[in-house]
Amino acid sequence: MLNCKQVAGLASDYLDKNTPLKWQIRLHLLMCANCRRFVKHLDITRKMGAGLEHSANIPADDAEQVLQKVKTKIHAKSSAD
Ligand SMILES: [Zn+2]
Repeated sequence: MLNCKQVAGLASDYLDKNTPLKWQIRLHLLMCANCRRFVKHLDITRKMGAGLEHSANIPADDAEQVLQKVKTKIHAKSSAD
């Protein structure tokens, strides 16, 4: 039976589906609310991190274009008022 410390150490591999101890971790998570919360937060944090990486891959030119479009829209809106 895994303890909380072991589950915490394996949580990242568990989310990557990269551990042969998957079922033992799952069993622990069924019984341990603390580790459930830990794994859930780790999952969210990792997904947010992946999202940031993705947005960082937008070329600078595109980012500049988007910014210009937004500025134009804001300007158009404020002129209309
Ligand atoms: Zn636990």
